[in-house]
Amino acid sequence: MKAVYIEAHGGPEALVYGERPEPAAGAGEVKIRVRASALNRLDLYTREGGRGLRREFPPPLILGGDCAGDVVEAGEGVRSLQPGDRVVVNPRISCNQCPACMSGRDDLCPRSRFMGSASDGSYAEFITVPSVNAHKIGDSVSYEEAAAVPTTFLPVWNMMVRRAALQPWETVLVLSASAGVGTAAIQVAKNVVGARVIATTSTEEKADKARELGADEVINYREKDVVERVKALTGGAGVDVLVDHVGAEFFTSAFNSLRPGGRYTICGATTGLGAELHLGLLFTRQIEIYGTFMGSKEDMRQIVEMLNRGVIRPAIHQVFPLAEASAAHQTMEEANFFGKLVLTP
Ligand SMILES: [Zn+2]
Repeated sequence: MKAVYIEAHGGPEALVYGERPEPAAGAGEVKIRVRASALNRLDLYTREGGRGLRREFPPPLILGGDCAGDVVEAGEGVRSLQPGDRVVVNPRISCNQCPACMSGRDDLCPRSRFMGSASDGSYAEFITVPSVNAHKIGDSVSYEEAAAVPTTFLPVWNMMVRRAALQPWETVLVLSASAGVGTAAIQVAKNVVGARVIATTSTEEKADKARELGADEVINYREKDVVERVKALTGGAGVDVLVDHVGAEFFTSAFNSLRPGGRYTICGATTGLGAELHLGLLFTRQIEIYGTFMGSKEDMRQIVEMLNRGVIRPAIHQVFPLAEASAAHQTMEEANFFGKLVLTP
């Protein structure tokens, strides 16, 4: 089958478009014909071998996690899916046997692994996954839209809906509205919860798109002081919940934008991992911090339900042919996009 893989770590030119063996569904697995695969930062880190993801070659590794497609084969014991079902794939595969998995907190599974990082992924014509990682999508949902959902909506759901429990009468500040997580957070806060949404971004064009997605207020962080603007927009109080996925560069201003008793949620640190936390402010202002990494299978079930009802709709920036995966990686590195980048075979 055709696939995009790496034989060594490197830049976008390390991606090879070529032939790889077609996988077969084992017991409890489904084989899926991939119709769309969405890019994530993790794909870039895996390609580069950064952030603890350096690995040995050979064998080559097919990149890619998030994807959607058609079930073409159901392995032994699979009862929930059959050939012809349209599905979206949760790329985080957990063991289903440890205490975390047993308790429904499979996002904490110590044996979990990522498709496309620890094992072959979705930049391919076919993949196999445990059937519990594939969820049926409705006819009104396109493969491209579905593929753009898991890795952006799972952490957003985990931090905003389940952990920080954002409420309709509250205000949330979403950092960097143009990235996948930012666009997902705006939609979940507005369309699912019904909260007031303030977002930050860097250009007027991106600000307009954030408003279209549902942001009530947008702050251009290149022109305005975020803390001052947030205070002005909240009657001096600060926001109830903060959604961070960018890390170091914005941490201090984000932290200072929270009201006393506010909840700081974080699921990524694309601008850097180090930040200085003022412990005095942490305890005197009684801030709660939620570190989140992807989400649980139950989170995914709830997200797909909202996707199928049309309540959430991922923002897609551009669709590339699978053979042009390196151009898609280049685009992601240049950071000049709004929404998800998607590959189609
Ligand atoms: Zn487990």
